[in-house]
Amino acid sequence: MQVILLGLPGAGKGTQAAWIVEDFGLPHISTGDMFRAAAKGESQVSGEIRSYIEGGLLVPDELTIRIVRDRIAQDDAKEGFLLDGFPRTRPQAQALDNMLAEVGRPLSRVIYLEVGREELLRRLGGRWVCPGCGATYHAVFQPPRSAGVCNECGTALQQRADDRPDAVRVRLEQNWDNTQSLVAFYEARGVLTRLAGDQPIDRVRRAIRAALRGDGQ
Ligand code: ADP
Ligand code: ADP
Ligand code: ZN
Repeated sequence: MQVILLGLPGAGKGTQAAWIVEDFGLPHISTGDMFRAAAKGESQVSGEIRSYIEGGLLVPDELTIRIVRDRIAQDDAKEGFLLDGFPRTRPQAQALDNMLAEVGRPLSRVIYLEVGREELLRRLGGRWVCPGCGATYHAVFQPPRSAGVCNECGTALQQRADDRPDAVRVRLEQNWDNTQSLVAFYEARGVLTRLAGDQPIDRVRRAIRAALRGDGQ
């Protein structure tokens, strides 16, 4: 089962990915998480990745494709995976096609979480993440049980540096046309499910579950 979660920053990909990987037993492949981990290193590449992320800019395709190719080749991805935040550009989508063709596995489904700009800004402005376990919260829409502390592991929550307004603006601009282009690309192949992502988390969850189960998975 090879599934892609597609959507602009703040659409709810990470939030939904958390239960999908549990329920369907898939490894969670998040390029954002992988780049944030890589950005912590001391090397020149780490520094470069850090500056792309901090500016809200896309990491170049060549590097992005390389890290996904390596990740998909690992043992735990042999039976399938959930891609969150990849592909984000046409060249990335084409590279993914080639990777899947090499291993003889089709794309099962692309779930597109459609959310309007105003709602995305509200979500990113109130997003809090756990540096310990990666859990995602929202100050208003999904608050932790105890203010500022992760439900899962008790770590103090943080806001992402790239969720500040100027970086968010760049991120939405960079991703807008690319996302529309990917939607058209996957729609043309009949693998796209377009879902209203601007509903409460539970409703989105039910819609995703129906879409994935509907494929006989
Ligand atoms: P968001 O939660 O806003 O959707 P992510 O956590 O997925 O953002 O990504 C954070 C940053 O990591 C991006 O702004 C970009 O710099 C980099 N990144 C993640 N995925 C990709 C990708 N597929 N291509 C290029 N850059 C990426
Ligand atoms: P993405 O991974 O697509 O960037 P996230 O899953 O990190 O998006 O969600 C962005 C923010 O919006 C988080 O603070 C999250 O708690 C919140 N959020 C996610 N889904 C919903 C929803 N359906 N309704 C309201 N807020 C949501
Ligand atoms: Zn945690």
